[in-house]
Amino acid sequence: MFLVKVSVTFSAAHRLCQPGLSDEENFALYGKCSNPSGHGHNYDLEVAVLGEVDPATGMVANFYDIQRIIDREVFDKVDHKNLNVDVDFLQGIVPTAENMARRFWEVLEPHLNGCRLFSVTVGERNGNVATYLGPRPVAPELLLAAAATRL
Ligand SMILES: [Zn+2]
Repeated sequence: MFLVKVSVTFSAAHRLCQPGLSDEENFALYGKCSNPSGHGHNYDLEVAVLGEVDPATGMVANFYDIQRIIDREVFDKVDHKNLNVDVDFLQGIVPTAENMARRFWEVLEPHLNGCRLFSVTVGERNGNVATYLGPRPVAPELLLAAAATRL
């Protein structure tokens, strides 16, 4: 069994805030990421698919096919954008790394034909990383594999 990973880096602005809270309360909850004017991050996005090697091709999946799907479905829509305003599939959520990883999974999974999506990881360049393993319960051995995932 193989875990095949494809990573991209994008730059985007966001603001973490709960609409019902004051600026002070949002700062207490989200720190600098609650800055009322927003701020930017350089994000790393890693998509991992799980599978066996096809003996005919020697691959689980073609890296470039996965790259093209990530570029079309996510990268082109988030790079150099304001995540709170410009990205339709991020509307209505607080764009934390966790929420972004879950939404990216939901956007990508229908397009990964023939691949079993294993994880979607979103990291901010300061070393803060969130990995989403999908909506289903996860076996302990898969949790260990995910813990070994790093950007
Ligand atoms: Zn931030």
